[in-house]
Amino acid sequence: MRHPPAHLLKKINMYIMNCFMVMFVSCVIVGVNLDSPNLPSLITLPLEGHFNFHEVQHAARDFGNRYQLLPVAVMHPKTVSDIATLIKHIWDNGPRSDLTVAARGHGHSLAGQSQAHRGVVVNMESLKQQEIHVYTGEVPYADVSGGELWIDILHETLKYGLAPRSWTDYLYLTVGGTLSNAGISGQAFRHGPQISNVRQLEVVTGRGETVKCSENQNDDLFHGVLGGLGQFGIITHASILLEAAPERVKWVRVLYSDFTAFTRDQEHLISAENTFNYIEGFVIINRTGVLNNWRLSFSPKDPVEANEFKSDGRTLFCLEMAKYFNLDKTEIMNQEVDMLLSELSYISSTLFASEVTYTEFLDRVHVSEMVLRSIDKWDVPHPWLNLFIPKSKIHDFAQGVFGDILTETSNGPVLIYPVTRSKWDNRTSVVLPEGQIFYLVAFLASAVPSSTGIDGLEHILVQNKRILEFCESANLGVKQYLPHYTKQEEWQVHFGPHWEKFVQRKSTYDPLAILAPGQRIFQKAKSHSSVAI
Ligand code: FAD
Repeated sequence: MRHPPAHLLKKINMYIMNCFMVMFVSCVIVGVNLDSPNLPSLITLPLEGHFNFHEVQHAARDFGNRYQLLPVAVMHPKTVSDIATLIKHIWDNGPRSDLTVAARGHGHSLAGQSQAHRGVVVNMESLKQQEIHVYTGEVPYADVSGGELWIDILHETLKYGLAPRSWTDYLYLTVGGTLSNAGISGQAFRHGPQISNVRQLEVVTGRGETVKCSENQNDDLFHGVLGGLGQFGIITHASILLEAAPERVKWVRVLYSDFTAFTRDQEHLISAENTFNYIEGFVIINRTGVLNNWRLSFSPKDPVEANEFKSDGRTLFCLEMAKYFNLDKTEIMNQEVDMLLSELSYISSTLFASEVTYTEFLDRVHVSEMVLRSIDKWDVPHPWLNLFIPKSKIHDFAQGVFGDILTETSNGPVLIYPVTRSKWDNRTSVVLPEGQIFYLVAFLASAVPSSTGIDGLEHILVQNKRILEFCESANLGVKQYLPHYTKQEEWQVHFGPHWEKFVQRKSTYDPLAILAPGQRIFQKAKSHSSVAI
């Protein structure tokens, strides 16, 4: 009998060894789907965490509830090196592997951004087992895992009398998920978005390398990853800037029927000295009678006048403000709030206020979540549309959209508030409109699953499309926040002059386009040499 040649013998030996490793490693694998051609190579990876090949359906869903792309596996990493091992393995296989990798934070994307069709989804929350380290000192900060939820960071930092400076409206989102977008709320005019409040990151790139980066170290990767839609690396750790946390919050709402007065006051407040700590606003369209939703749990300054106020179907604009304070400074805070309110021109009978703890204020959306969950209205399609609109065009926008394209706001809130560009770092990957001040307008609709009426998905999607078409035809210079496009040409238009830099960063840090395929910007490359564009 002839012996096989040496190189073949080596391969056979490797195969036998692999089989043993498969038997060994499968101890930590929950239910293997043997149909997928990609699995044998994954099974052999030496990990501290594990893959799950069967229970993958939840990773094919997100908050948007409109896209369902099944991965072949979900990885539950225990360590950063588990993630690096996975990506390095795919990188080493080059074009032979068609696997992609999506980090999944809390899966609160709106259009499949944290999904990976036939790829691997990395459940970042598995990394949460690593502790939150809080550093007190002149410039306090917290070191957290990329899979940490902001709500948990709040609870932990409060033990030291500290808290992050910049927030999102809802805290059951992960650090990696919001830093991949921007992370904005009513504090952004003061501190910038969350991506302006990061000291350092640890990132696993699309080459499987684990890299620390900051303003002073690997700064191109640092800026690229912030707002980078997960394209250049998986954020495994972040160092988040903190500030002294207040004990309580005075929370105030007032109404306007005049959009010019509303925006003038919002813009005045975001540039005033000693102003509020939080400024947002929302739109109320086509509601009649005594308005209640907008002021539940708020007390009117003048109950008699407030009860007499009727909206009469007018389009109204609610300005929402919050002032942080400690109990021993209540009197001074009240004086400051009165002074600030005296400079505004809202409808006087519509002044409502409330006092809550800092945690109650920051975690306010969770209260609505609980209510919606209890009536089965949380896990429904969410065809959200978030836009950044230049200040110079906000009146044209309002005229064309509020009360015309959008004829009622019963499907969900429509937020509107200004932010200042000077608080954003233009080296990051986020795309902003022109001008020193721009507005976030967020259409946060929920659709009734089986409805074909105005609360149905189709109707809301058509409305979103009309809004986008109007912005385009009126040349408003609008940019999408949490952008969603399906064609690369559309991404190119979105990025505009920044597209070249974005592509260059992609070819440096993830040249095979392994990462975040759910964003649909790049397709996995066929060779080691370049990004598929
Ligand atoms: P996922 O949806 O899991 O992931 C989002 C994207 O980031 C995906 O492409 C994913 O692959 C990538 N990603 C996830 N983790 C990492 C990581 N560690 N490293 C690299 N890439 C990663 N946004 C605001 O700015 N302000 C708000 O006030 C706000 N409020 C919201 C309220 C609700 C109820 C919801 C559902 C969303 C809200 N958002 C808000 C949007 C939210 O910030 C984004 O949808 C965010 O991406 C969700 O975070 P996540 O942890 O669920 O990320």
